[in-house]
Amino acid sequence: MLQDFNIRYDNAFRRPAPNKDSLALLYHGDAVFAQAANGCLNLPVFADLSPDVRALPWRYGFSLGEQTVFLADGDELSGEHAASDDGRRDMNAADREAALRFVSSKELRSMGPKEAVFAAAVGESLHRWYGATRFCGRCGKPMRDSDTERARVCPACALTVYPKICPAVIVAVTDGDRLLLTKYRGRAFKRYALVAGFHEIGETIEDTVRREVFEETGLRVKNLRYYKSQPWVFTDSLLLGFFCELDGSDKITLQENELSEAGWYHRTEIPDDYSSISLTGEMIGSFRAGG
Ligand SMILES: [Zn+2]
Repeated sequence: MLQDFNIRYDNAFRRPAPNKDSLALLYHGDAVFAQAANGCLNLPVFADLSPDVRALPWRYGFSLGEQTVFLADGDELSGEHAASDDGRRDMNAADREAALRFVSSKELRSMGPKEAVFAAAVGESLHRWYGATRFCGRCGKPMRDSDTERARVCPACALTVYPKICPAVIVAVTDGDRLLLTKYRGRAFKRYALVAGFHEIGETIEDTVRREVFEETGLRVKNLRYYKSQPWVFTDSLLLGFFCELDGSDKITLQENELSEAGWYHRTEIPDDYSSISLTGEMIGSFRAGG
């Protein structure tokens, strides 16, 4: 999965200053300023940036191992202005091709290494949240960062807003050696998936599993078994993976506005066509391998 790499992710609350080796995540919409070539994402450090860009208001985000990671809003800048003048001298054609540019969130998802893609995605989620909490949703006054925790606070009415993290379930419904696979309708993601859906206020996460399976397929399930979680920061979600068993009839009634297809696949018939960075992909692969 995307978060499975060997560098420690540390998001404890603190406010260090950047140094020349700190990672610099500069965002323009959902795109991050980086080198991207041959499927490899290379994020800049502060030493790679022009003085104008280093002077932006950078916020500490988190650390990867010993390296601190900062983020800033680059909406006012174009890629031309962001790279260091020093770094742009003596570039040959290959260097120019690999030079820094704004790389979209969708493009970087299929790249490596995982730690760079993860850092860019976590930063994007934080960037999106800071952008959405500039003003208080209750009284409309400008908000500011809390001094004691990762939160936005309204100085006028004291509303405190925490980072947006939406819990959701990924559900592998099994019936002996068969697994229920689905395909979403109307999404860019065309591979096989599992039943999935967001938690609603007031229900247990087990209720979410039962409700989503029933809504999407008309099936009942039992013997829920929690598998693993995944921070799917591309959509501000925390995914909770469950395996469960079919309870009763195996007849599928498709929720057609959500899914384009759903069907039972024997362990040996499961297509080898699922994402390698997602919890969904790991769960399908695990069942296929006999797990
Ligand atoms: Zn307020």
